[in-house]
Amino acid sequence: MDSNARKKSSLTAYFIPYLTPSHYLPLFQIAKLFASRGVHVIFLTTYHNSLSFRDSIPSLNQLGLHIDLEYVDFPSKEVGLPEGIESFSAATNTDMAGRVLQAFFMLQAPIEAMVRAAKPDCIVADTHCFWTTALAEDLGIPRLVHHGQAAFSLAAIDAFDRYTPYENVKSDDEPFLLPGLPHPIYMTRSEHPPWIQSSNFYTTFLNKIKEADGNSYGLLVDTFYELEKDYIDFYRTTLDCRTWCIGPIFLHHDHALHKINSKDKLNHDNNKSDENNPSKHPCLEWLDKMPRGKVVYVSFGSLSRFSSAQLLEIAHALESSGHPFIWVVRKKESEEVGVKWLPEGFEERISQKSIGMLIEGWAPQPQILEHPAIGGFVTHCGWNSSEESLAAGLPVVAWPLSAEQFYNRKLFIDVLKIGVGVGNMKWSSMIDGTDELVKRDKIENAVREMMGDHVEAQERRQRAKEFGIAAKKAVQQGGSSYDSLTAVIDELHRLKNSSKVAA
Ligand code: UDP
Repeated sequence: MDSNARKKSSLTAYFIPYLTPSHYLPLFQIAKLFASRGVHVIFLTTYHNSLSFRDSIPSLNQLGLHIDLEYVDFPSKEVGLPEGIESFSAATNTDMAGRVLQAFFMLQAPIEAMVRAAKPDCIVADTHCFWTTALAEDLGIPRLVHHGQAAFSLAAIDAFDRYTPYENVKSDDEPFLLPGLPHPIYMTRSEHPPWIQSSNFYTTFLNKIKEADGNSYGLLVDTFYELEKDYIDFYRTTLDCRTWCIGPIFLHHDHALHKINSKDKLNHDNNKSDENNPSKHPCLEWLDKMPRGKVVYVSFGSLSRFSSAQLLEIAHALESSGHPFIWVVRKKESEEVGVKWLPEGFEERISQKSIGMLIEGWAPQPQILEHPAIGGFVTHCGWNSSEESLAAGLPVVAWPLSAEQFYNRKLFIDVLKIGVGVGNMKWSSMIDGTDELVKRDKIENAVREMMGDHVEAQERRQRAKEFGIAAKKAVQQGGSSYDSLTAVIDELHRLKNSSKVAA
């Protein structure tokens, strides 16, 4: 941490995450970034959700950062969850996920009390924590919202809500234009959750989130200007929303901390970055032996699960695509034990011929994507995965399932032009999964299309590579995201000094 940062370190920011790793890990990365710029960070967590990052904190603090963890008790007993299930990704069925959500709402009161006691200068909270806007207002401090979304999807969803174009079509499959956006973007009702048409509990929850976002001081977006400038400008000007784009957050963070560590150099060469790592994941060792740019990485994030029938289709497709692959498998819990989900002899064949690898647990995804042997990514288009893929400069097969992933497919295919479409046309809940079955030939064709040598495939690859270069530049000193981070922290200092918050 430089001495200027240290001098300014009178700013305290209270970070409040959502209960799932794809939200709390990026927020923790932002917290580290703030701390690397001299901000005193208080990061709120529950015990089990802290386990993947809390051990890193003492050494970060020894490097001169100031990060405090505050623990709030997760009400396991009250909501009837077993000890240790404190996140949506740990919930294996809808009932458990509902209980995690119930617990999330119960945490509001104790968290409010903790924030009031800490007297921070600002709150940085996940978009789901809508009540933090009112809390910040009451305390006379700004709330920044963290969205785990692209600027494109934020703008497109705004157009969807503002103009309700889905009301003018006759069926769920008829495309409608999202008005007012920089590109002609068509969507269907089937790519959206059912509650857009029939209000339920989630409609109310989302409305509260939207209202709180609108009344908050501004947004931190995990994207970079060079990737989505039309949409970032649109969001800032047409929608008049204070927006700081500081992504790719995971990349930026590496850089800042490498800098603190006097290793003032981005090290994205996977072999080098693993030199000192005695426990290298076997899949990275396997990748070291594979030819450059030839391996397909297949993963659908930390929440989605597939039926045995769908897994079987994917297995057939990958084997017959002729491309080596790493496939991260998450099976539906409800599937009966013993139901066949791999073709006969699949695992033996792929291992003997060294053409594939299955991972039935947590894969080191960012390292896999950065490995030179990887040539393309079959993804569910979750925004963290998308950012990691963009930073690695890879083309994708876009296979959305849930959340705002159908918007990200549009971004990959229609706007950035680095994606091949496949997969579902119908939105599904992450936990319940989908009834749609994407057949093996469709998947195989999409993989061949992405990995091919024809002109379109090469152009997609080239464009993706350029985004990867731009992502790395954005987080370096003088880059757009680096400067944006400086700007937001300067703004918080200015607000503190003027003690005035204009919402
Ligand atoms: N992830 C990982 N290993 C896995 C599965 C997921 O590292 O085996 C990480 C992935 O790198 C990304 C996050 O989990 O950072 C998934 O977030 P995303 O927004 O893509 O999808 P979600 O899990 O929210 O559906």
